[in-house]
Amino acid sequence: MKILVTGGAGYIGSHAVVELYQAGYQPVIVDNFSNSEESALAGIEAIIGAKVPTYRIDCADNAALRTVFQTEEKIDGVIHFAAYKAVGESVQKPLAYFQNNVGSLLTLLEVMTEFEVTNLVFSSSCTVYGIPDALPVTEATPSKPASSPYGRTKQMCEDVVHDVSAAPTNKLHTILLRYFNPIGAHNSAKIGELPLGVPNNLVPYITQTAAGIREQLTINGGDYDTPDGTNIRDYIHVVDLAKAHVVAVQRLLDRKASEVVETFNVGTGHGNSVLEVVQAFEQASGLKLNYHIGPRRAGDVPAIYADATKAEQVLGFKTETSLLDSLASAWKWQQTLHKNG
Ligand code: UDP
Repeated sequence: MKILVTGGAGYIGSHAVVELYQAGYQPVIVDNFSNSEESALAGIEAIIGAKVPTYRIDCADNAALRTVFQTEEKIDGVIHFAAYKAVGESVQKPLAYFQNNVGSLLTLLEVMTEFEVTNLVFSSSCTVYGIPDALPVTEATPSKPASSPYGRTKQMCEDVVHDVSAAPTNKLHTILLRYFNPIGAHNSAKIGELPLGVPNNLVPYITQTAAGIREQLTINGGDYDTPDGTNIRDYIHVVDLAKAHVVAVQRLLDRKASEVVETFNVGTGHGNSVLEVVQAFEQASGLKLNYHIGPRRAGDVPAIYADATKAEQVLGFKTETSLLDSLASAWKWQQTLHKNG
């Protein structure tokens, strides 16, 4: 079964390509390399021992995307990762986020419709919940206004999928996976997160600080209404998250879904504060991290973590990697990168 993976050279995408291949699928990568690097392809190849067909195109480019669907002839399903992903940056560049995240989904759906490809796994996010009234959030928790343009793009994309699916001629079947916070790297340390420039996300910032690339981690706010005053998130190991995609794709191909659009939280079900992550990193690495508490970051939700029951009951999906092991894998990856310059 051939699965097109947009953003397949990116952080989550590259791990999903590996898991798909190892589960017996034929992944095909589409990536414009705007926030990913060719080295990810070499890492994938080193792990699986094969080259994955890769198209260097922007999936918001209708003509280019059509060429991929034509060339590959029969695509059984699509996993759409390709998107901008930084909450803080989206506050600075909202138009770029709407254009890229919503625009690429629209183009992809047009082309999928034309080529009668009917299975889609879409990368959504826990940011669609906004600032929830109660924790943990279940898939039935009502979405509040998004706290950032990034979160709003994910809300809009989910709405687009629902509307397209409700059309009388619709043949599309979609699984929306609402990710919590992916961290860590493949155990081989051949693929992992490759932030361009200064990292936006917590864990690469931590590992770069520990490696001496950044001087100090700034914790974005210590005065939130949480037990230690810092934000709470649900940190999931990226390989666990990647495996959720394999299960979702299989469910679509088996036509097991109970509705044309199904939604699942993909998290561990546990919340950890930023300070807890720092402490766990210190434990995993045996190092002391240089950090200080700074101001709040615009767009941040104070606290969110998943109720992961639905994914477990319906998909049979459960995370396997602890926070400590996830951080250890992130540190191993950082050290590998550092060694290679
Ligand atoms: N964070 C931080 N310092 C950083 C980067 C992130 O304190 O340099 C915090 C951020 O404010 C949030 C948490 O770490 O509370 C996770 O942020 P990240 O950007 O990794 O993911 P997000 O939850 O925004 O998608």
